[in-house]
Amino acid sequence: MIQVICSREDYLYNAYHIVKAFYPHKEISSFVEEKASNYVLVRFEDGQEVEVSAQAEESGEAFCCPKKDKKTEEAERMLKKQLDKKLYRILSERTNKTLSWGILTGVRPTKIAMKKLCEGMRKEAFLDWSAEEALVSRKKAALAWEVAERERGLLEQLDMENGYSLYVGIPFCPSVCTYCSFSSGALSDWEHRVEDYITALCRELEALSRMSKGRHLNTIYIGGGTPTTLSAEQLKRVLSCIDAYFSREKLLEYTVEAGRPDSITRGKLEVLKEHGVTRISINPQSMQQKTLDTIGRRHTVEEVCDAFYLARKCGFDNINMDLIAGLPGEKALDMEDTLKQIRELGPDSLTVHSLAVKRAAKLSKEEAVSEDIGEMILAASETARQMGLVPYYLYRQKNIAGNFENVGYAKVDKAGIYNILIMEEVQTIIAVGAGASTKIVLKAPVDAPGGKRKKKTNLIRLENVKAIDAYISRVDEMIDRKGEWLWH
Ligand code: SF4
Repeated sequence: MIQVICSREDYLYNAYHIVKAFYPHKEISSFVEEKASNYVLVRFEDGQEVEVSAQAEESGEAFCCPKKDKKTEEAERMLKKQLDKKLYRILSERTNKTLSWGILTGVRPTKIAMKKLCEGMRKEAFLDWSAEEALVSRKKAALAWEVAERERGLLEQLDMENGYSLYVGIPFCPSVCTYCSFSSGALSDWEHRVEDYITALCRELEALSRMSKGRHLNTIYIGGGTPTTLSAEQLKRVLSCIDAYFSREKLLEYTVEAGRPDSITRGKLEVLKEHGVTRISINPQSMQQKTLDTIGRRHTVEEVCDAFYLARKCGFDNINMDLIAGLPGEKALDMEDTLKQIRELGPDSLTVHSLAVKRAAKLSKEEAVSEDIGEMILAASETARQMGLVPYYLYRQKNIAGNFENVGYAKVDKAGIYNILIMEEVQTIIAVGAGASTKIVLKAPVDAPGGKRKKKTNLIRLENVKAIDAYISRVDEMIDRKGEWLWH
């Protein structure tokens, strides 16, 4: 096991993730060992050590002062960056590798590009700045910039003053895929509670619509899980409930994830159409049958094609498809073949994920990281562009295979606005259902709740309980928690 030892708690996060990015297959532990200096020490399995230290520009006492002023905070930021860059360079030399996202460990690199764009920076200056300050490759910086420019155009359509978005979580799936990091359950285990779940969901929807009277609903996203695991009748119940409580006057987009092709029927697609759903997602993840079998998808490639053509017949003109690069056993050639088949189908948007393996998933990390992942991502990006799809949102995940990123490509008028909102966190998203995460954007910053250090924030995150039974029995508590913060 590799050990990452830092002199301060707040160095740990970046140091751990930089080491992890260079050694994705290794187990890594991290802890604090206080000494007088500012340092990060990496101890390798063979006992070798590298130590990185940084020189504070101000006296050590300044960093212990509980009342930090802006100057001190900036000095701290610079110090951390100094450590990150030194650590990166040492590990890069040791491994003979470079990381395309440099020292960026956050999940939203486009937020940085968006900030610089809004400050008036030009593209070339941003590429230079990213290379110098964060060691990001020019290619990735250009991608982040392109996405930020597109996001800005799309966000301009929204009502930032009075608008909000709604997420509805359906935590059931036909079966649980081996790589899944969501907290969804197999329908067969929960069939007896589905109706109670919908009742609780409707209760939460009704209460939140009351709290949001006079506000404008801009996007709706029903995800999960796999919402189309519900029967046509159950889907109708959920969608009718949304119809009854929420106005569509200012609605720009209504998405339902019909993720698993084995859950899609004509009857369900007709219900979605009748209730005004504008965008659906049919997700093959791979068009290789051997891979689908390995990862427990329990559907065929043929079913993906059938579901896609059925959705087109039912009138859906905005269909997204998700792919995952780096699935176990897949090589660049498999991705090439998958992309060829996707091209023949011609979806309106394509989201390409790099496999992220969280603790909950059953795959081991070693299984997950494919040598060909860089090639796969490049091929996907080229195919997307050949299909007339341009990148419009991008995010990274912790433990993502090969330190890559997830990118959404879409036809110019078919981008998923909700996906951008999740990344940019500029509009309130009210989320209902088990495990759903609400993000409330406040008008003025407040003290961040729960943090050890007094930080200010204007973003409040509230998570509903994940367990389905607990959600059903505690739905009123979930409503009250949101009521404490909504529209203050
Ligand atoms: S369909 Fe999606 S949410 Fe359901 S188990 Fe598979 S990956 Fe997880």
